[in-house]
Amino acid sequence: MFNSIKIKLVVLFIAVFSFFFAGLEIFLYYELEDLVVSLADERLKSEVETLANMIIVEEVQHTELSAELSELASASTGVYAEKLSGHYYQIVAPDGKIIVRSPSLSKADAALPVVPGSQTPDYRTVTGPDNAPLRIVTRIYVFAGGAMTFQAGDSLTDTYRLLSSFRNVVLALFPVAFVLCGVGVFIVTGFALKPLKDFSSKIGEVTEENLNERIEEKGLARELKPLAGDFNTMLGRLEESFSRQKRFLSNASHELRTPTTIIKSFCDVTLNRERTAEYYREAIARIKESVDRMCEIIDRTLVISRLDTREAQFKHEKMDLMDVMKNVIRIIEPSAERKSISISLSGGPAVVKADREGLIQVFTNIVENAIKYNVEDGRIDIGITESNGMAKVRMEDTGIGIPAGEIDRIFDRFYRVDAARNVTVGSGLGLSIVRSIVEAHGGRVEVESEPGKGSVFTVCLPLNTEQRNGHH
Ligand code: ADP
Repeated sequence: MFNSIKIKLVVLFIAVFSFFFAGLEIFLYYELEDLVVSLADERLKSEVETLANMIIVEEVQHTELSAELSELASASTGVYAEKLSGHYYQIVAPDGKIIVRSPSLSKADAALPVVPGSQTPDYRTVTGPDNAPLRIVTRIYVFAGGAMTFQAGDSLTDTYRLLSSFRNVVLALFPVAFVLCGVGVFIVTGFALKPLKDFSSKIGEVTEENLNERIEEKGLARELKPLAGDFNTMLGRLEESFSRQKRFLSNASHELRTPTTIIKSFCDVTLNRERTAEYYREAIARIKESVDRMCEIIDRTLVISRLDTREAQFKHEKMDLMDVMKNVIRIIEPSAERKSISISLSGGPAVVKADREGLIQVFTNIVENAIKYNVEDGRIDIGITESNGMAKVRMEDTGIGIPAGEIDRIFDRFYRVDAARNVTVGSGLGLSIVRSIVEAHGGRVEVESEPGKGSVFTVCLPLNTEQRNGHH
């Protein structure tokens, strides 16, 4: 379930959102608390200033201070007159005696907690006379008659009630916002992922029959375009390999058809009446030729299919191409002699790491062609050299050559140059096997040819580097 992009996005969003929202709420809560407390402080400060100013004014007029103070205590009205209204003041003499109390205090015979003050206002939160949280300010004023401590206090009950209702509203809103946002993100990601869904359903429509179709890149989301591009490239490759397989199959059946037809007609003709023993022998010999041909085609087809599916397991062992070539020439000599073709081998040792059977197949195929497509009394010159880290085996014949336009195609499966078809039997698979094996060894095959003069096939294979290092 957590492998879904949608769920991941929702979870990610909710995590970020909760973090941000919780942070914001905590910040706002403390900001709000600061604000209301500082408003209270501001009010308290002006309260003590007002009280002190009244006394300063009285002092200037030389009136009795104590009389003035008692007047102050009784004159207060409004919130200060109510018993424990939550708004208080008191004035304390230097000896700690409370000289004046706001009526709200004196009626309840309560007092504000006396805290040591100074000439700068001191604000603090304490427990008030009604056991409620109380914000008080304490400040000392110095008069001619001595220093006196002025205190004013406001209950914080209302402030705290406000803050707690703010907190409750937020706590109630939080889950709602949480759920709403979660649902919102779920829906939005659903929309956002829709192109991907469409895309995947388009991919689902691809079958063997419509491999030639491509996914339209126009109108796709920008993020999906490279995906569509890659997918189309893959389709192209699949299409190509599919049609190659089809071509291969149809070519193979076509090639097998000729010998089959020959066998069938020989059988029909031979069986339609009594024949001499000589005739039967002759017929069976002809049939065997065709069967041999079929065997060759089938064998080579098997080799190709094994090379294609990489089932062919190449052993990589060190070997000297000179030895391999001598081996090949030994195998092939009889058929060269039959056509009076002379083979020469020159050059030095060249060590590669390769599959012996594979290389024998490569060189046999090429040299066999050099005999097949050669003229009577022709020549084949083989030279082995090393250059640029590559071993080069050059096989030159004096045969019929290959027209320039065909050179690129002779490595194709079942491809045979038209002129060659009449000249001699073959499957057209030999060179495609050669190329597959050589490329599987990291090498390449080069061809030069001049019709009527001859051809040169050069096989290049990487030299065995281990052996080189051993030399130094
Ligand atoms: P094939 O079984 O026909 O020889 P190959 O794949 O070995 O099949 O070769 C493909 C074609 O290349 C041959 O049919 C022939 O026309 C041409 N070819 C190959 N080698 C030579 C050569 N040495 N000289 C002339 N033509 C050649």
